[in-house]
Amino acid sequence: MSATKIRLDAIAYGGDYNPEQWPEEVWAEDVRLMREAGVNLVTVGIFSWALLEPAEGRYELAWLDRVLDLLHGGGVAVDLATPTAAPPPWFTRRHPSSRPVTREGHVLGIGARATFCPSSPDYAAACARITEQLARRYAGHPALVLWHVNNEYGGHLHACYCDVCAAAFRRWLRARHGDLAALNRAWGTAVWGQRYGDWDEIEPPRIAPTAVNPAQQLDYARFSSDAFLACFRRERDILRRLSPGVPITTNFMATSKPIDYWRWAREVDVVANDHYLTAELPDNHIDLAMAADLSRSLAGGRPWVLMEHSTSAVNWQPRNIAKRPGEMRRNSLAHVARGADAVLFFQWRAAAAGAEKFHSTMLPRGGTDSRQWRDVTRLGAELAALRDVRGSRVVADAAVVWDYESWWALELEWRPSGDLRYLERVAAHYERLWRAHLTVDFVHPEADLAGYRLVVVPSLYLTTPAAAANLTAHVRGGGTLLVSCFSGIADANDAFPPGRHPGALREVLGLEIEEPLPLRQGETVRLEGGCRGDVWAEDVLPRGAEAVLRYLDGPAAGGPAVTRHRLGRGAAWYVSTRLAGDDLGRVLDRACADAGLASRADLPAGLEVVRRDGAGASYLFLINHGDEDAEVPASGVDALTGAPCEGRACVPAGTVRILVSSLPPWGEGWGGGPI
Ligand SMILES: [Zn+2]
Repeated sequence: MSATKIRLDAIAYGGDYNPEQWPEEVWAEDVRLMREAGVNLVTVGIFSWALLEPAEGRYELAWLDRVLDLLHGGGVAVDLATPTAAPPPWFTRRHPSSRPVTREGHVLGIGARATFCPSSPDYAAACARITEQLARRYAGHPALVLWHVNNEYGGHLHACYCDVCAAAFRRWLRARHGDLAALNRAWGTAVWGQRYGDWDEIEPPRIAPTAVNPAQQLDYARFSSDAFLACFRRERDILRRLSPGVPITTNFMATSKPIDYWRWAREVDVVANDHYLTAELPDNHIDLAMAADLSRSLAGGRPWVLMEHSTSAVNWQPRNIAKRPGEMRRNSLAHVARGADAVLFFQWRAAAAGAEKFHSTMLPRGGTDSRQWRDVTRLGAELAALRDVRGSRVVADAAVVWDYESWWALELEWRPSGDLRYLERVAAHYERLWRAHLTVDFVHPEADLAGYRLVVVPSLYLTTPAAAANLTAHVRGGGTLLVSCFSGIADANDAFPPGRHPGALREVLGLEIEEPLPLRQGETVRLEGGCRGDVWAEDVLPRGAEAVLRYLDGPAAGGPAVTRHRLGRGAAWYVSTRLAGDDLGRVLDRACADAGLASRADLPAGLEVVRRDGAGASYLFLINHGDEDAEVPASGVDALTGAPCEGRACVPAGTVRILVSSLPPWGEGWGGGPI
């Protein structure tokens, strides 16, 4: 990531703006209403390729000139997109080899968006041409403050399995493995007689009669993430060359599986994320918090851009539940609380046609005489008042390991149980930490863990020797570690290290696993302490660890279920079954106590509490998701009303308060800090 920053003097507020869907006389009204709503940044042109280049080499940019001039005249800055997420129909027809192919061999068609193979040289050349056109034309435009490359790479098309990709995969494999002998070793091709004698024999992991080699599938997931990354880099490098000084981003979907965003985050000037609630889930604000914390963590703790979320319902879920009064405000300010310095929506004006016409917008179909509009303008005014929050850093109490590669590997077929899912495990641990009012950073398993008293490792199936050494050093140095089941199983090639599970984590956990003992569907096991696990159990053989809770029944009855291992100056906990809810919470509470994290159990349930520290000021965000008013011990000045608050702060049900103070509002008792 470079130091290039977005040239704005306030929290960015706005959204995707698609004026091409409307006659030009509407544009002036758009800009006038943007000003009324406090909008200062809009994203333009994401899907406009067919309008900007209606035939190969014929460019029609005058309309975009007028849009950018109009926005600039209205004081609205522009995040200008390269339109490469939606190749025009003429391109796809002329270059049929650019059509993506599914794992099943289906060639995908025209009529949606994202119809492109990431390895296609024709697509690459066409992207380079339109990107150069836009960069040359708008590099010096005064409205331009940010470049937005493509849209949600990997979001619709997770991977392409065409012959062009097959050739690119072989080149990628040569770079990774060197020679065929090394590849054959890494992939374990002695199994089922898969040994390759020629590079050309290697294919993408297309549908085969039965399970395809897991190492091959894992490498293909890496290759696919890298193939999309190459697309991003190609456009980014053109923009950097022709439009120096303007930061470049692309919108991530941080909690989705296909892209390894740890690798991508290093490549963007500013991390940007899209987040949409799973509308019908209860407590979906916890999922929002997780995505926001992951976005900030990908940004290395620096402020990030919430590039898209929704004012109310989306259009693509089975049941698109509208947001209730106050929910959009809580959602938006929760993102800010967790490090976002931009609150943007999909999209500005409600579409009248097309696939997304049921999606909520900033300017709804009902126009300005609507609750939606009043909420949008109020939020704009509040964000303007929070301008000094920009640049401040979120104070985290604990770290949770997040690893896309391990996610890919864990969920390949033919595991001991298909019921153990990676995202569910991460979310379960995150939820309990959220309910304990602890703020979490996500970390890569090989990241620097200094400064975290507690590191939680949900089901890290793929554990490299470097990751294991990192986690072990954390414990030896005085940290606390909590690892959940099915961790430390495989190396980067999905092969078992020598000896019993959990491989390279045996030392830090002080135990071995005799055998995984997955449970039947719906089966549960009882543990001491009134806990109950499901999905998974293990024969745990202590090798220095002490049993904290034992299995009372089930296939591991009498054996350790939860263990604790003192190592060096710290301690490592292991949970060998799937715990959830309060049962997981009780174990995490004990690990937190081990780590010396101050308890905040007395804070009201449903109250989200996050702190951002800036130069000389500390911002305490109090977001009440509950149905009852909440009161907490806190002092400061209300950042929105200017009212002083001494000793206790009341947060009415469903509302948000932000207290600013010159000192951390709860002093050293907050927890966190260096070990
Ligand atoms: Zn392809």
